[in-house]
Amino acid sequence: MEKALHDRSLTELSTALRTKQVSAVELAQHFLYRAKADTCGAFLSIDEDATLAQAQASDARLAAGTGGCLEGLPLAHKDVFVTRDFPTTAGSKMLRGYRSPFDATVVQKLGTGVNGQGGAGMVTLGKVSCDEFAMGSSNENVGVPAVGHAAPSPVRNPWDASRIPGGSSGGSAAAVAARLTPAATGTDTGGSIRQPASFCGITGVKPTYGRASRYGMIAYASSLDQAGPMARTAEDCALLLSAMCGPDLDRDSTSLDVPTENFSAKLGDSLLGLRIGIPHEFFGDGLATDVRSAIDAALHTLEVQGAKLVPITLPRTELAIPVYYIIAPAEASSNLSRFDGVKFGHRAKDYTDLVSMYKQTRAEGFGEEVKRRIMTGAYVLSHGYYDAYYLQAQKIRRMIADDFQRAFAACDVIAGPVAPTVAWKLGNNASDPLADYLADIFTLPASLAGLPGMSVPVGFGEGGMPVGMQLIGNYLQEARLLNVAHQYQLHTDFHNAKPSGVS
Ligand code: GLN
Repeated sequence: MEKALHDRSLTELSTALRTKQVSAVELAQHFLYRAKADTCGAFLSIDEDATLAQAQASDARLAAGTGGCLEGLPLAHKDVFVTRDFPTTAGSKMLRGYRSPFDATVVQKLGTGVNGQGGAGMVTLGKVSCDEFAMGSSNENVGVPAVGHAAPSPVRNPWDASRIPGGSSGGSAAAVAARLTPAATGTDTGGSIRQPASFCGITGVKPTYGRASRYGMIAYASSLDQAGPMARTAEDCALLLSAMCGPDLDRDSTSLDVPTENFSAKLGDSLLGLRIGIPHEFFGDGLATDVRSAIDAALHTLEVQGAKLVPITLPRTELAIPVYYIIAPAEASSNLSRFDGVKFGHRAKDYTDLVSMYKQTRAEGFGEEVKRRIMTGAYVLSHGYYDAYYLQAQKIRRMIADDFQRAFAACDVIAGPVAPTVAWKLGNNASDPLADYLADIFTLPASLAGLPGMSVPVGFGEGGMPVGMQLIGNYLQEARLLNVAHQYQLHTDFHNAKPSGVS
């Protein structure tokens, strides 16, 4: 039987488009139909007219032979990327109803291009849910309703609706896993691409800090935020990442001045002799046995393919938690000061003067977790505490980055778990925000160092939930990571597994 459109990879769909088995409009309609029937709460906005207009333009370019490298293929954007054709909320009541006058650079590059030049030609299906302003690990911190919902609701994991999909890019991961879209964008500040990818059994890449432009990506913690692709396979992620990255020096001052790379062209290397560093700090008592067995089996597969496992040490792994939860809130408290009721989004109705308008707007617009971060951030930056917390955290951040450089002297990539457990039940950590913070332990170190990392599906654990393996590379080594993941996927089938409730 022919594979259903929603079970095909981007590469397969691209062939179907170019051989005229399907048009971009038909493809968009197929996925919109599924997205509208979605029960996970993944989509925050769908606009059929806007999507079909983009798809018609793609069909015209395909017919004229002028299409981009991903012409006509559908994708969903995490709702922190600003878009002209769709509302942008960052999952926050603060931005409910907000419409950006421009598209984020990543949206432009995947779409019709920067100034209409060199775009990949993808068609936007809509915007997908996330934790408010990307703060969270469970996609439970949502301040706006999903499509078809009257009230704000968390996203549910397609593998088990009683569990979280991970976060903050939980809408992206759930939408890909439930086959509502073949691909989605995500953002990763401390693990928000890798962890939901792991929890939903898909592949996700956080590139080197600065690889993808942050222009038009609503800022959480500017020195950590990175955009990246989420799809079912490493091969699809390579296609997307090649199109997303590239210098944007005029619009993002931290954009790296390195040429665009064709990651897909580098997926053919053998793993023979590849040195995979195994940090013993990632395999301690805190790691659940089900996750550990899946990772061990994956490492064995890589060894059979010719890789060598090398024990390494990342001695400051535990410190990554306090360091991150000082630096990220500090930057967030500054970045979120722009939401004051004057320029964008929500404005309180009842106020007496300007200051009361600011206060009332922020009290109403922000959710609990965002307020917690703003307060923590303001505290660690305040006079008298700056040296003790913020400055100290910056020094340890540097040491964490140096530890990685020592480790990379002995290995080519680092492998380990993405998260200590599989996806937990909704509401599990509701009364204990620290429990969520602690679960970020394995993704935070690479974020603080600015290194590329990815999650690859490697099996199933407790409750039949997916387990992801994390691969971390040295700066600008995304091609190597993607190749390792691709070689692994050529020998395994976990990336094709489908949640039982998904048609
Ligand atoms: N869970 C982490 C946080 O809440 C990471 C979030 C992210 O990467 N955006 O900050």
